[in-house]
Amino acid sequence: MNLIRRHLPELTKHVSDTPSPMVYTRELVLKKCPDAKTVFIGPCVAKRGEAREKGVDYVLSFEELGSIFSGRGIDVAACEPWPVPRPANPSARNFARSCGVTEAVLAEAMSKTPSFKLDAKRIDGIDCKSCSLLKLYAEGKLKANFLEVMSCPGGCVNGPVSLN
Ligand code: SF4
Repeated sequence: MNLIRRHLPELTKHVSDTPSPMVYTRELVLKKCPDAKTVFIGPCVAKRGEAREKGVDYVLSFEELGSIFSGRGIDVAACEPWPVPRPANPSARNFARSCGVTEAVLAEAMSKTPSFKLDAKRIDGIDCKSCSLLKLYAEGKLKANFLEVMSCPGGCVNGPVSLN
């Protein structure tokens, strides 16, 4: 979003206005617990700016959370599993890796219109080459009806402050 805003504003009209999972989750939390403080924990440094814009109170990276666990001597692998009260929709499970958004969009579109045809292209990591591709697309040279752009190669699972 920042790349488009700063360098390719002519593409803004094509960018999805669907908020990120962080923003939706904040809304769900505040509906249930209006006084809650919201903390996004993830693999992305760009979330700090988005959180400021969208009212999320705090952002922690996986690295920072890992340091907290390590400092407190918590071995996550040895902890009791916690049953997730509301498991993710299967088509959303892969949202954080390349192709996952495309799969989720296709599943949702086909659940409404079974004959829907998705002709998707993908940018997997932002670099000079992919920026040139985006510029071509801005000139109307994209032969597809959907473009998935992941700034990090492989998607958020490979974000700059993830733990592998
Ligand atoms: S792809 Fe990278 S920059 Fe984009 S939201 Fe995921 S971790 Fe952040």
